[in-house]
Amino acid sequence: METIFTKIIKGEIPSYKVAENDDFYAFLDINPLAEGHTLVVPKQAVDYVFDIDDQTLGNMMIFAKKVAIAIKKTIPCKRVGVAIIGLEVPHAHIHLVPINEIQDISFQKEKLKLSSERFAEIAEMIGGEV
Ligand code: AMP
Repeated sequence: METIFTKIIKGEIPSYKVAENDDFYAFLDINPLAEGHTLVVPKQAVDYVFDIDDQTLGNMMIFAKKVAIAIKKTIPCKRVGVAIIGLEVPHAHIHLVPINEIQDISFQKEKLKLSSERFAEIAEMIGGEV
């Protein structure tokens, strides 16, 4: 099934790309909880993350690990928090969010408003570390 994330992966909708390989794509969340909030998605659309086959899911986490290490190098934070929600976009994805305290990964808090220049700068900085 085509999703908004499929269109992003194909380049039909713009995104602030952080990294990609043959199977996965990482880009900045457009409504970030923090600077550096990144989404990791499989290129092949699967709605529910735990419907992904074991090997692909393992590889997705290994790819997310590389991106998380790059986020940690780029954005000052205690940890890179990991969340899977999936209530909005039916294309499995992992949220990677720089955090210093538990509230930093609350999806109920107000999202940041960043300029397109700042998004681009952050994506480039993180991407340069992957
Ligand atoms: P959820 O499916 O509940 O995990 O939430 C989907 C996430 O995707 C939200 O945090 C949105 O801000 C994010 N999102 C939706 N559309 C876009 C987009 N075009 N570019 C980047 N992030 C998006």
